[in-house]
Amino acid sequence: MAVPQNKVTRSRRNMRRSHDALVAANPNECPSCGELKRPHHVCPSCGQYADREVIAQAGEIDLDDDAA
Ligand SMILES: [Zn+2]
Repeated sequence: MAVPQNKVTRSRRNMRRSHDALVAANPNECPSCGELKRPHHVCPSCGQYADREVIAQAGEIDLDDDAA
């Protein structure tokens, strides 16, 4: 098994961990529905991206299309 050749000091360990912090999400408002959404992502509540509908919403799909 590989064994560390040198002790990593508290200082060096903490310097390595200085880049490990998580950054908070930076949501912005959807221009069509006003919900908060991730930038450069399709809005999860209305399915819009760049003023067009990318994901059809459940209420708008006609499930009884092939009935009759
Ligand atoms: Zn939206």
